Amino acid sequence: VTRRLTGFQPTGRLHLGNLLGALRPLIAAQDTTESIALIADLHAMTMEHDPSAVRRSTLEQATVMLAAGVDPERTPIVVQSQVREHTELHYLLECVAAHGEAARMIQFKEKSAAGGPIRLSLLTYPVLMAADILLYDTTQVPVGEDQNQHLELARTLAIRFNSRYGPTFTVPEGVRPESAARIMDLAEPSTKMGKSTGTGRIGLLDPPEVIRRTIARAATDPIGLVRRDRENQPGVTNLIGILAELTGREPSDAISYAALKREVTDAVEAVVAPIRARHAEFAADPDFVRGVLAAGAGKVRPTAAATMSRARRGIGLLD
Ligand code: ATP
Ligand code: MG
Repeated sequence: VTRRLTGFQPTGRLHLGNLLGALRPLIAAQDTTESIALIADLHAMTMEHDPSAVRRSTLEQATVMLAAGVDPERTPIVVQSQVREHTELHYLLECVAAHGEAARMIQFKEKSAAGGPIRLSLLTYPVLMAADILLYDTTQVPVGEDQNQHLELARTLAIRFNSRYGPTFTVPEGVRPESAARIMDLAEPSTKMGKSTGTGRIGLLDPPEVIRRTIARAATDPIGLVRRDRENQPGVTNLIGILAELTGREPSDAISYAALKREVTDAVEAVVAPIRARHAEFAADPDFVRGVLAAGAGKVRPTAAATMSRARRGIGLLD
């Protein structure tokens, strides 16, 4: 059986990149895989954070997941901090990981270069991510390029732990998400659309008028041709990619940039409108959403506890 883990950090509001790159593949695989949707709130604390914003965003992300079609019966939605085994395994894995392995992570180097005090948890972030994955006997982790190195570390730690302390963890494989979608920021199309970065973001809960404006302002180029050319026309290429992902078709190359943007706007609105509407329904009942999260944690806890008990025994703790 294929077991997948897809993680989301409650660092902000979910956007079109999250939908096309992560949520849709997760929803599409609900019939064929055992997936877990993890809201990684502990990871959201590796950089300066606003406590009430993280709490709000945790609940909102769960709500958007439900609205987008995640079926909690088949795909438990789990808040990382509500399953204590994540932090417990994190510590044990720190005892098999080397400082140098964490320090050479590209994401750590990038994020720590931002200036200001660097949280120790930012350094050990990939070890917590390894714990997230290994806890659930995950066989596949859909990863974008930016997470490759972290997944490699998770594999390394699993193999090392197993060989030192006996068979404990399933060694996970990285898989490319079905859709190769990597949605770029509309204002700065050389960088990816992100929750906490950039200004050209299409939020899944943005009102139609905001979406229209964001797309109308999307960066293009003076070339004037509707074609894919990531090197010279990153903005236009991104718009074509979004349209293709949403509608399954390529735009005619004979249209203007303004017409392309109108097509993209209509396509985005068609996909986002039902999510917006269902979100409003779920958001009106936060207790229901909290119940879904409690049930999700309850569902996965036995697996987490079983893994922990193997790990504790193996590494030398009294059971
Ligand atoms: P942050 O800026 O806080 O890192 P993020 O937008 O990168 O936020 P994550 O929580 O890091 O979101 O990732 C959630 C999921 O969405 C991951 O599976 C990630 O690969 C996917 N994802 C994030 N951004 C994009 C994007 N621009 N295009 C496609 N997939 C994306
Ligand atoms: Mg990210």
